[in-house]
Amino acid sequence: MLKQIKGLHHVTSLASSASENNAFFTNVLGLRRVKKTVNFDAPDVYHLYYGDEVGTPGSVMTYFPFANAARGKRGVGEVGVTSFSIPKESAAAWMDRLATFEVAKITRDTRFGEARVLFDGPDGERFALVEVDDNRAPWTGNGVSADMGIRGFQGADMRIVDDGATAELLKFMGYEKFGAQDNVTRFIIPDGNAANVIDLETLSGVPRATSSAGSVHHIAFAVENRARQLEVREALLDTGYQVTPVINRDYFYAIYFRTPAGVLFEIATNEPGFDRDEDTAHLGEALKLPSQHEHLRAQLERHLEPLS
Ligand code: ZN
Repeated sequence: MLKQIKGLHHVTSLASSASENNAFFTNVLGLRRVKKTVNFDAPDVYHLYYGDEVGTPGSVMTYFPFANAARGKRGVGEVGVTSFSIPKESAAAWMDRLATFEVAKITRDTRFGEARVLFDGPDGERFALVEVDDNRAPWTGNGVSADMGIRGFQGADMRIVDDGATAELLKFMGYEKFGAQDNVTRFIIPDGNAANVIDLETLSGVPRATSSAGSVHHIAFAVENRARQLEVREALLDTGYQVTPVINRDYFYAIYFRTPAGVLFEIATNEPGFDRDEDTAHLGEALKLPSQHEHLRAQLERHLEPLS
């Protein structure tokens, strides 16, 4: 069993409008945009990152907005709910806030004894705000007060047909079974970062998901540095997973592999971080391009939708 993985690093999803996406995550959820760059593999598309003050691993929600993309179809073989951590006793205030912004499909429930507020993002993606004890500092620069601000991710909920193989993979990655409720089995990394929960939701008779706007593209798990990442890569290869070479994403190093249930997993390093090329005070303001795409800057600045 691996010990290098600490929990989530980031979650990356697809959107249909950069400006709507930006407005939702900053103005409604109160996160900070910590990086405005492009999809390194398709530089005419933004890659937008939202998180806490510095984009601490475990807090970073990221998007590829493809203008006017059709909505994906929810199903099995994908992450169905991305969960953020909020302070105890703040669910009611979030219900009010989300209603004020006319957010779709707001509901409440309790899972494993924790109060949750569930709602749809702008492309129908499902989120939960979960009341947990969490001492991570929230970003308060967008008008959401510290007593309700999002602390980062709690975790993610994978929708699968049969949890056997995925559960084995999670255990291999360092997760331990925490408990079960209805058709959901919870796994956590003891001594992980605070974004250390994965729920496996087993469904039958549900079609496979179709990936497009509102779909989670991949979830990334955090390791401290490149040495730990190489250890994880070796171990996954030894177990028979097809793993990509290490790819430099400027703000972290990434490797990718697909799970038995069809979900794309990434292992990302905590180094070097989102402040490597911008002052903390101005994170996310300027369009940052990787060196291989810097020659496209004039064209991209004309083509990409302006964001406030
Ligand atoms: Zn990623």
